[in-house]
Amino acid sequence: MSTTEQVQLAPIPATIDNLDEWAAIAQQVESQSGAPTVVTPELVAGMIGSAVPLLFEADSAKNGKLLRGTFTDPLVAQCERNAGDLMGARPTSVAAHLVGVHMADGHPVVRTHLRIQVQRPDGSPSVASQFWDLQLGAQVMVGQQTCPNCGAPIGNGELVCGYCRTDVRSLVEVPLVVSRLELY
Ligand SMILES: [Zn+2]
Repeated sequence: MSTTEQVQLAPIPATIDNLDEWAAIAQQVESQSGAPTVVTPELVAGMIGSAVPLLFEADSAKNGKLLRGTFTDPLVAQCERNAGDLMGARPTSVAAHLVGVHMADGHPVVRTHLRIQVQRPDGSPSVASQFWDLQLGAQVMVGQQTCPNCGAPIGNGELVCGYCRTDVRSLVEVPLVVSRLELY
């Protein structure tokens, strides 16, 4: 129940429109962080293709918890505060453009510009333009899938067991997390 909810959100087709610049981006990551990155453009595109539908779903359902594990904790809070900003549109595909690399909190961050093809609630097509910062290497807070105390399944994004109130928070390492969003 807790895991399948996320899986049911099908990823959308995602491409990187300046794939030829990946080598330069990876080189900047290595020179700024002192270590080569294990992240590949395929991983970046796959992550964006599943994170974009999550963001639109969390926005229309006003449920920032869906973003846990994929977006940083401050962004989960930001999306809960600003829920509804995406006006009920549904994303159908996304093209990412690699912009550059900078360091934040000791982690390399790749800035991307996303052009998201969306379908408005009235069925008409539109394009949403957003900047996303992708942090390479992060620890994020997620809820365990099953309560370690009473064995109850934990709802998606919940951090406390709904039955016995046990704290089910767990820190996990992820290769990529969305660390900043600019929607406009
Ligand atoms: Zn419990």
